[in-house]
Amino acid sequence: MNIRPEVGLTFDDVLLVPKRSSIRSRSAVNTATYLTPQIRLAIPIVSANMDTVTESEMAVAMAQAGGIGILHRFMPVSRQVEMLRRVKRAESYVVEDPITIFPEATLAEARQKMSDIRVGGLVVVDQERHLLGMLTSRDVRLALDENERVEAVMTPRERLSVATASETLESARATLYARRVEKLPLVDVEDRLVGLITARDIIKLREHPQATKDAKGRLRVGAAVGIRSEDMPRIAACVEAEADVLVLDVAHGHMEHVLETVRKLKGKYPKVPLIAGNVATAEAVCDLVQSGADAVKVGVGSGSICITRVVTGFGVPQLTAVAECAEAGRRLGIPIIADGGIRNSGDITKALAAGANTVMLGSLLAGTDQSPGAPVVRNGRRYKLVRGMASLTANVARQEVDKGEVEDDELAEVIPEGVEAVVPDRGDVFDILHQLVGGLRSGMSYCGAQTLDELCEKAEFIRITPAGREESGVHDVSLL
Ligand code: IMP
Repeated sequence: MNIRPEVGLTFDDVLLVPKRSSIRSRSAVNTATYLTPQIRLAIPIVSANMDTVTESEMAVAMAQAGGIGILHRFMPVSRQVEMLRRVKRAESYVVEDPITIFPEATLAEARQKMSDIRVGGLVVVDQERHLLGMLTSRDVRLALDENERVEAVMTPRERLSVATASETLESARATLYARRVEKLPLVDVEDRLVGLITARDIIKLREHPQATKDAKGRLRVGAAVGIRSEDMPRIAACVEAEADVLVLDVAHGHMEHVLETVRKLKGKYPKVPLIAGNVATAEAVCDLVQSGADAVKVGVGSGSICITRVVTGFGVPQLTAVAECAEAGRRLGIPIIADGGIRNSGDITKALAAGANTVMLGSLLAGTDQSPGAPVVRNGRRYKLVRGMASLTANVARQEVDKGEVEDDELAEVIPEGVEAVVPDRGDVFDILHQLVGGLRSGMSYCGAQTLDELCEKAEFIRITPAGREESGVHDVSLL
């Protein structure tokens, strides 16, 4: 039997040893890190590409909080693209591609468009995009006749304040305030629409000073994609929709097919950051990085809803996997994402102390208001659904997206590696992130670490016994 001499460790097998610290307050530490060499995050947290965790609402919140969300791929390409656009539109100082409508359209059409795309106003333009007016949801809601034409109720061009594409944030704010209006269309010299600035976006900019933004001031967002030839149109569409990073979503990321796909995609889209995974060994990290990966996702069998280890017998306890992969990542200058198995802020601190640059969270975020999972009430308590992307029901949903229907014999072929479950309703994701990052900050101060690099350098782990683990939790009391 070929067996490694060392024991594989996971989060509960160890604790971090307190160190001399000059840090006086949690607020004095810096949690900034890199998802890929191109993408800096103010907090080291990434929401998982699972269909019960990350759709556009979660991705917007994650980026606003200073992390990032990765949109799952178990939906039609057009929907994933629409979600990417929604995140990109959610908070930027200039909306580059405002949603428009023609003056001849009816109010019913305008209302439908506003609700489909979830915008509060439409810019009215002609075929050549000359600015004709603005229509707000209030105009539409107050109108009695749904068949009335947009031009009859819009605020016409002559009553609009406008600016040019070079408008500064401060001057836009002053105009919006002075005129008490919500929207400022931007036009070129021929009065054609080239952008839009909204009061809401300017206010949001102030609310989220740590937000993860691209060079144009828009929120960043990632998109998960597959590696089959049928997935290539999805990849092209996500690149076209300006996804900030692509995540190759493969259970066994150390497959030659994955290495080839990484090479191919880096050749085709050299500027688009690419994360590959999932893997659990240094050798896999080296292979993926040599093929061109910009970051590597680590975790085989560690997820809360994962039964890969039970079904296949494969996996590496997560802390050992992270430590081994992170050592390779550091040597190669490539960040590592610790994905799966994180249950609390202590686990986040341990993963980062073991060398990960970021952590990916699934079920810990699945219970929040921003997750797309269905709410469930059980014995009077509120829960939300979470499911493994290799669970039976996720497989069925995927085949429905791919082929429109699922045959019974195809279902019999499925060997699930994930389960369906529920997690307690946890409220607003901003509150959860506040708790998680607060715990990490406290952890950094126990280590005397001002930065995450220092945390990793200074950290010393100690192995514990079952008695030590029992001592670490609440014990010998009855919880109220
Ligand atoms: P969690 O944070 O412990 O819930 O783990 C989330 C991670 O589990 C995801 O980011 C995936 O890497 C992994 N995962 C998601 N679905 C499955 C599955 O069906 N089987 C195995 N792993 C999964």
